[in-house]
Amino acid sequence: MLASLRDYVEQLREEGLEGPPAATEARPAAGPRAAAAPARDKIAPPAPTPPAAMIATHPARDGSPATAAAPTELFYRYPGLEKTDDLAALREFIGECTRCKLAPKRINLVFGVGNPSADLMFVGEAPGADEDARGEPFVGRAGQLLTDIIERGMGMARAEVYICNVIKCRPPDNRNPEPDEVAACEPFLFRQIDLVRPRVIVGLGTFAVQALLKVKTPIGKLRGNWQDFRGIRMMPTFHPAYLLRNPADKRLVWADIQEVMRELGRPLPSRGAQR
Ligand code: SF4
Repeated sequence: MLASLRDYVEQLREEGLEGPPAATEARPAAGPRAAAAPARDKIAPPAPTPPAAMIATHPARDGSPATAAAPTELFYRYPGLEKTDDLAALREFIGECTRCKLAPKRINLVFGVGNPSADLMFVGEAPGADEDARGEPFVGRAGQLLTDIIERGMGMARAEVYICNVIKCRPPDNRNPEPDEVAACEPFLFRQIDLVRPRVIVGLGTFAVQALLKVKTPIGKLRGNWQDFRGIRMMPTFHPAYLLRNPADKRLVWADIQEVMRELGRPLPSRGAQR
């Protein structure tokens, strides 16, 4: 009964309705990841303004001027992060990270996978048990659904896109990441985005979208509407784990994916391919 109530609350949140405060919500140990709002007021305060030399920008792939400043306070938090010049260097910089309290219980740090110069990047919340065991994002049931969306729905190879999470280590018992963990880990995500420089980001679920946009708006109100992530087009949509519980909403995700395909200038597969 408690599990049913939790699922119901998660569903309300995904649909844009209010539930109890995220800090009081426990998560099922083995279930798919929920997407809940981080308590922004608990996130560590921004670091002081860094020296100009640490300011990073987003140069476009065609060499035109940068479109938006990177979050300089994130680079300032880890001096040298802004100097990593490819994903391998970034992974080396992260190392066997112990920068937050998630480190001791992880099996594998789940960095990201896919095309290092992908036009399309998917950003989820945090690794679950399968991802922790294999060291790869989106490999469980929700991951298989994401793969289906990419391969059957979009007509692309999974290896053609880049996939990662906001948080690189699994929160114990699949609980929601806590604000201090997000604050510790998000500099790595921002650097990943800088290095991949995708044309489009798809934010998967409430938590990932809220962490990227620094808003509290529920995914039910954001999904389907283009957002700007520091000069990059971003489409918020439901997390595949939510779709496993609410398959009727696949049609909404399909509509969002169609928007993404149009933005990328790619042909739409037949309607039947995404069922
Ligand atoms: S979650 Fe991020 S900051 Fe925390 S230990 Fe893992 S890699 Fe480091």
